[in-house]
Amino acid sequence: MTKATVRFECPGCEKSISFAVADIGTVQECPHCGGYVDVPGEKDDRFGNDPDDERQRAQYEQQLDDYDRQTKEIDRQHEVTKHQQEWGNKLFEKDEELQELQIQLHEKWSQTQNEVDQLVAKWQALADRVDRFVTKLEDKAGDRE
Ligand SMILES: [Zn+2]
Repeated sequence: MTKATVRFECPGCEKSISFAVADIGTVQECPHCGGYVDVPGEKDDRFGNDPDDERQRAQYEQQLDDYDRQTKEIDRQHEVTKHQQEWGNKLFEKDEELQELQIQLHEKWSQTQNEVDQLVAKWQALADRVDRFVTKLEDKAGDRE
């Protein structure tokens, strides 16, 4: 960046002289005639001192911030949606596992019922045999009397 200067004619020797913008409003010596000169001009707006520029830059930076924040928020929502989908998939898998377990449980329960039925049948047969045996004993006892 070139240093900002202000160029003007020396009122003493009428030669073109220049000073730094920072010197505006101060008294300097002319490098040609050595006379004192007032460095004319106003502090230049282009060099960052304008409040409007500052405000615009602040607004621009605010917009950049907002945009950045919105982008992050959208990213975050994508992330949340992704997690919800993953969670949904996991639940669906769990649901399938649960259904599989229910089927297995139902089969086990059917098996158990069969076994119980068989046990009951066996027990019934045994009870019948005991009944018949007791009846036989009673018959024999009756014969003896
Ligand atoms: Zn001069």
